[in-house]
Amino acid sequence: MAFRYLFTILGCLLLHNLYSQNKVNQDKALSIPFDIDKNKTATYEEIRTFYTELDNLSPLVDVNDFGTTDSGQPLQVVVIANDNHFSPEDNRKAGKTLLFINNGIHPGEPDGIDAAMLFAREFVKNPKSSAILKSISIVIIPVYNIDGCINRSSTSRANQNGPEAYGFRANAKNLDLNRDFIKCDSKNAISFNQIFNYWQPDVMIDTHTSNGADYPYTMTLIATQKDKLHPLLSEFMTQNMLPYLYKDMDKKGWEMTPYVFSRGLPDLGIYGFMDTPRYSSGYAALHHTISFMPETHMLKPYKDRVESTLEFLKSTTEYLFMHGTQLAQIRKEVRHLVKNQQTFPLNYTINTQKADSLLFKGYTASYKKSEVSGLERLYYDRNKPWQKVIPYFNHYLPETVIKKPFAYIVPQAYDKIIELMKINGVNMHKLTQDTTLDVEMYLIEKFDTAKNPYEGHYNHSQTEVSTFSTRKKYYKGDYLIYTHQESNRYIVETLEPQATDSWFNWNFFDGILAQKEYFSDYVFEDLAADILNKNPEIRTKLENKKLSDEKFASDGRAQLDFVYKNSPYYEPTHNLYPVARLINP
Ligand SMILES: [Zn+2]
Repeated sequence: MAFRYLFTILGCLLLHNLYSQNKVNQDKALSIPFDIDKNKTATYEEIRTFYTELDNLSPLVDVNDFGTTDSGQPLQVVVIANDNHFSPEDNRKAGKTLLFINNGIHPGEPDGIDAAMLFAREFVKNPKSSAILKSISIVIIPVYNIDGCINRSSTSRANQNGPEAYGFRANAKNLDLNRDFIKCDSKNAISFNQIFNYWQPDVMIDTHTSNGADYPYTMTLIATQKDKLHPLLSEFMTQNMLPYLYKDMDKKGWEMTPYVFSRGLPDLGIYGFMDTPRYSSGYAALHHTISFMPETHMLKPYKDRVESTLEFLKSTTEYLFMHGTQLAQIRKEVRHLVKNQQTFPLNYTINTQKADSLLFKGYTASYKKSEVSGLERLYYDRNKPWQKVIPYFNHYLPETVIKKPFAYIVPQAYDKIIELMKINGVNMHKLTQDTTLDVEMYLIEKFDTAKNPYEGHYNHSQTEVSTFSTRKKYYKGDYLIYTHQESNRYIVETLEPQATDSWFNWNFFDGILAQKEYFSDYVFEDLAADILNKNPEIRTKLENKKLSDEKFASDGRAQLDFVYKNSPYYEPTHNLYPVARLINP
């Protein structure tokens, strides 16, 4: 009896020891540098290992490698879900809301990288928190810019208060990946486009750290520019979701303010950020996904920045647990409405006549003598905090609005466009035979080009077009893109040359902007005279221009060029935008 009793006790002790040992192993496996030192962020190796261990230890976590990046390494994609719902189909069938978290697009701002690890770990360590997974699943990209993350130093963020070492903003091609979502110059962006369209998240969070003025808030927030979202989604975000997030963060001691984007001091007002499609949130808006970019303040301690980011992730998750079904319903409706929507804005201007009132907490800006230049310099006096109502300019007006055609026709020569369209879920029809069609085409009339390269491009802006109708031959293998699609916004805002982040503006069509054939003056002189004799209307145009333009009247070469450009000898492909619009079915 006594022996049996002793055996039981020994057995219990052994089991208890095994359990504790397991717990110790698990704790050790899942520990991150931030646990021990609040001014440390994990290295890329440590991040990968952490999520791999999480996958091994928990049935709620599924980690896979996807695609590739310019670093040569695949992206790690972490799915947190219960009931083995590790695919978008499973999630949709179960009616779950999908939250997508992207970290380390700027690895010098690693707050979200650490916060997401703490966030993911809690689901595994605290069974209570996993109850939320009944109606929500979470996809995390632990580090999007792997290239930048492995390029570590302690100096590239001169104005940032920790952590002690961190990655670099740009990727292996020295590109800012948060400008690359449309042009997709990086392999990272191609992989991101694929992952995003595979999961089609309801909400995306892309984590950042700010630059700029000093003020007391640790957390600032950029939400998708409301006037760019469909009105139904915009209303849901501004009337329901944002008020909850601001209130909840405040309750937890992390009072937020809209991202402090100012023209001068914040005292004079702050401006809503226009996240065109080159940015993560602007790209997501093309797919009707609401986005948030939490931007922690760079001068606050790293500990506070990570903890407030973690709380933001939790608040968003909790909100989606309560209201995700409603959001999914609205997104479904919006996708249907956009299919049938006839007109689309291509770009926006800020309405500086209309401002909201924002209660803002700031530090008094003062000036003192610079020890560098001896001139006046700005500083923010943290001993003189203020609180007042400032204007918040967050209303944007559509500038150019176009009516969508029945379909676009993209010549097969533009294969990168065709690839990107496919990745972004656009339905396309390959012509099965050569076909002549009545189409509307654009001539590129005017555009500005950047004087200095920007993100690998001398990109265009202020693009203007003229329209004409013609009959044009298309070839077997060219693509027809009907505009009765949920992805209409992606189609229109990339293919319409006047759209801010159109592929035209990103230099995808620069081949058409150079004239390929010219004339020799002395040869063309006689031919030009003949053309004028046979075409009195061209002569009239020429004479009128001479009368109205003195410089032109005294420039023989310019006049020859004028006749050339009005003659059949001038190539019709110069400045001709090759993507045609089919107006009638
Ligand atoms: Zn950033």
